[in-house]
Amino acid sequence: MPLPLAPASINVLVVEDEEQLLAMLKANLEREGYLVTTATDGRPVLELHRKTPFDLIILDLMLPQVDGFQVLQQLRYAEQDVPVLLLTARGEEETKVKGFDLGADDYLTKPFSVLELLSRIKAILRRTHHDRINPDQVILSSGPFTLDRERMIFRKGPRRLDVGPHALRILEVLMLRPGHIHSREELINLTWSLELRPSSNRVVDVHIYTIRKILGTRKNMLMTVEGIGYRWAHTVESLPRP
Ligand code: CA
Repeated sequence: MPLPLAPASINVLVVEDEEQLLAMLKANLEREGYLVTTATDGRPVLELHRKTPFDLIILDLMLPQVDGFQVLQQLRYAEQDVPVLLLTARGEEETKVKGFDLGADDYLTKPFSVLELLSRIKAILRRTHHDRINPDQVILSSGPFTLDRERMIFRKGPRRLDVGPHALRILEVLMLRPGHIHSREELINLTWSLELRPSSNRVVDVHIYTIRKILGTRKNMLMTVEGIGYRWAHTVESLPRP
């Protein structure tokens, strides 16, 4: 059984120009354990997402300069498949069709309850992250990379990449829970057997460095979370052996 996706690991961006609503959303999401970033306009969203890939963007439709539709367009055009929950005002319901056409994952009409919002968020995250991974299947696929968990082979496209056994195990642990921040200690516990456990957690950093080098131009798929640990910052799907 996979471990449940801990909310504390999930990065959410809230884009909303009504400051009071923004503060309320931030406070409630943080209380639920989400890591929350905020913006009051759509303009910085793509740049912010490139810097710290978000697991979910809560996006108000009507924004002062760059509106929700434009943000969605920018994200999808840039092939960013981050899930987006659109917030629409009453009377904008007809626009939801356009939102879905542009690649929104769900929408909520204002005013909404916090409970409603939280349950939608959980449903979206379940759909987009976790349900894609079936731990019984052997191939983990993420962007151009695949990991064969049975033969422990890591590939970019058809090309086999040279990754040592511990680095491979770390990759497997990270890819099995995309979005979750793994501390060094957690990675050691899940990767090394008790009797072979290294004396310093810093060993993990060495392997992460190696993996990021191997990922090359896609090294940001493995993110360092300052002071906490590491996370796989790209969606992962599990597949049966071809
Ligand atoms: Ca607005």
